[in-house]
Amino acid sequence: TELRELLLAHIRDVPDYPEPGVVFKDITPLLADPPAFGALVDALAALCARHGATKVVGLEARGFILAAPAAVRAGVGFVPIRKAGKLPGAVHGQAYQLEYGTAEIEVHTDAFAPEDRVLVIDDVLATGGTAEASLGLIRRAGATIAGLAVLLELSFLGGRERLAPVLADAPLDAL
Ligand code: 5GP
Repeated sequence: TELRELLLAHIRDVPDYPEPGVVFKDITPLLADPPAFGALVDALAALCARHGATKVVGLEARGFILAAPAAVRAGVGFVPIRKAGKLPGAVHGQAYQLEYGTAEIEVHTDAFAPEDRVLVIDDVLATGGTAEASLGLIRRAGATIAGLAVLLELSFLGGRERLAPVLADAPLDAL
């Protein structure tokens, strides 16, 4: 589609980052281009409305940059899922496997009301580990998953297949 072409034209491949053999998708050129960034935020806000979301979650750190303006545009609240130790209130925490070692993310226990439907937004879906842990946290905090939306899906890493049982009937949109 036209939107997809516009977005992809502003994403830069950086070879051997953060380690040899990995090609990193750098979204900073997109963030620096108002028409492209604006079109992305509009598309994410439209998904929010289409899926009936009442909250938008952004995943630290690049997810914040996309999710916060989308939430404002859609007229719903923004909720951060953060790396462990950053949120000041009572939290639910979830540890998950990285390629080397583990990571832990947290969300405030009072971030959602029971009737909330949550659209989760991140920049890139790779193995799906971050998204899987996030969906679990949101459910433990008592809300329903309305969907997962990413700017880019690295299909060769199998994230969509891994997330299928976790998402259940919730849609996974890659722009
Ligand atoms: P996963 O948990 O799906 O393996 O990794 C996804 C997380 O790592 C996302 O939060 C995403 O921001 C980050 N990530 C992994 N690969 C890339 C990449 O090539 N480009 C960008 N921008 N982020 C990436």
